[in-house]
Amino acid sequence: MRSDATLPIPGERRSWWLREAMAAEGETPGAPGLAGDERADVVVVGGGYTGMWAAYFLTERLPDARVVLLEQDICGGGPSGRNGGFVHGWWESVPYLVDRYGAEAAIAIAREADEVVDGIGAWCARHEVDAWYAKAGYVRVNAFPSVAHDWDGTVARLRALGQGEQLAPIEPDAVQRVCASPAFRDGLLMPSAASIQPARLARGLRRVLLERGVVIHETTRVRSLRGDGPVRVTTDRGRLTAEQAVLAVNAWASGWPGFRSRVLAWGSYMVITEPIPDRLAELGWTGGELLSDSRFTISYFRTTPDGRIAFGAGVGAAGYAGRIGRTFTHDGTAVARVVANFRHLLPMLHDARLEDAWGGPIDITGHRFPEIGSSHGGRVHFAHGFAGNGAGPSRLAGRVLAALVDGRPDPVARLAFVGRRQPLMPPEPLRFIGARLVREALIREDDALDAGRRPSLLLRAVARLPRLLGYKLGH
Ligand SMILES: Cc1cc2nc3c(=O)[nH]c(=O)nc-3n(C[C@H](O)[C@H](O)[C@H](O)COP(=O)(O)OP(=O)(O)OC[C@H]3O[C@@H](n4cnc5c(N)ncnc54)[C@H](O)[C@@H]3O)c2cc1C
Repeated sequence: MRSDATLPIPGERRSWWLREAMAAEGETPGAPGLAGDERADVVVVGGGYTGMWAAYFLTERLPDARVVLLEQDICGGGPSGRNGGFVHGWWESVPYLVDRYGAEAAIAIAREADEVVDGIGAWCARHEVDAWYAKAGYVRVNAFPSVAHDWDGTVARLRALGQGEQLAPIEPDAVQRVCASPAFRDGLLMPSAASIQPARLARGLRRVLLERGVVIHETTRVRSLRGDGPVRVTTDRGRLTAEQAVLAVNAWASGWPGFRSRVLAWGSYMVITEPIPDRLAELGWTGGELLSDSRFTISYFRTTPDGRIAFGAGVGAAGYAGRIGRTFTHDGTAVARVVANFRHLLPMLHDARLEDAWGGPIDITGHRFPEIGSSHGGRVHFAHGFAGNGAGPSRLAGRVLAALVDGRPDPVARLAFVGRRQPLMPPEPLRFIGARLVREALIREDDALDAGRRPSLLLRAVARLPRLLGYKLGH
């Protein structure tokens, strides 16, 4: 399905973010692939934020360790160079965390996760990485004409814990002052959130790692990893032996032995407009605020310093049996849905020209919360399951992973969720069929509510099925 006459086919080139970041970076040679036999103290698999933050914190904690990072593409070539650039912690997850780990542990986790916002800003300043960091807050808007917002429970529980200021309900006129759209009703403000140019952060991390002596091999796909004894990694053209490994492969974990039954890959797609600073000024949307709607298949949108809108939505399809292929990069139907959501939420911009579209996989676990822990007798450490919210929390994951490798006592490695697994998902092909059916039901139910219609009983039943089975997915 063609979504917009002006849009290129998604997946044919790198995301707009990554092209912009690499143009700003200038001529930078790719890191050579691994060939032959190599040794490391720690091997990091995955050159996204999680792997690169882990490598960065390892250089802080163990400056003499030989750290080798293997990336199948280029660093930042995956979702870390393609995402919306919304940086925030886990305040919205506090009710879940309280139910699972108790109030004290939940607040401790949320505080550490909150560090990522100021931490990324300070890190960019320290290392002179211009990632367009702006701490302008995040407003989730209620855009359903006939449905009350769904955040009262979360707000009440945060207030009861003395954390009411983290998520503040705001009236419709306050939402309109942020961005004047007839589709918006009331909203929920998260003041602590920041925006970044995601690929500039990823490429900045890569530069700093190289400066610190981390060995990076790009275009190096890990084919197998064994951890019975020293860690032995096999790639297409080489082998590497290490004392320990960090596995930071995000949605690709859905194809790894040991993780594939806990992670589902799901597609998220984005479009970006031409620069329209005058139109943004008419809407009053000049403060750099992040915005999203309150759907499960969330639409998220933000501005850029040159006056564009980058707009995304989690409307892509689920993957099959851990294969990360064209479903996540070339899905024209998903792009058409993103464009429809854009036109629906910002109807006054119906004539704004869209310049680019791209997508990527996000990693969903049964409770939509990451799993970070160790396996293979403590020699392999892993982090994945950010559910499309890893731009900030991947920094916390990197701190935890580095602490797990280091092994010296550190409160961050003892946060209650570390080492706790997420629920098992149904086996294939049941998972694939179920995920596709539920996704379609979720989108159709939201479309009906948006249009002021009552969704059918069947749609509602399918959209609620995962919750009935104990997953924190769907409505
Ligand atoms: C369109 C889109 C929009 C998003 N928007 C937001 C947002 O606004 N805010 C937010 O918080 N999050 C967002 N996310 C999610 C966010 O991008 C991720 O949570 C985050 O980038 C995770 O970082 P990571 O390092 O764990 O994963 P990745 O960036 O995916 O890095 C994993 C890396 O591992 C590599 N790899 C995989 N398998 C192998 C192998 N066998 N050998 C070698 N290398 C391998 C991959 O190539 C990849 O580069 C979005 C995601 C998408 C797709």
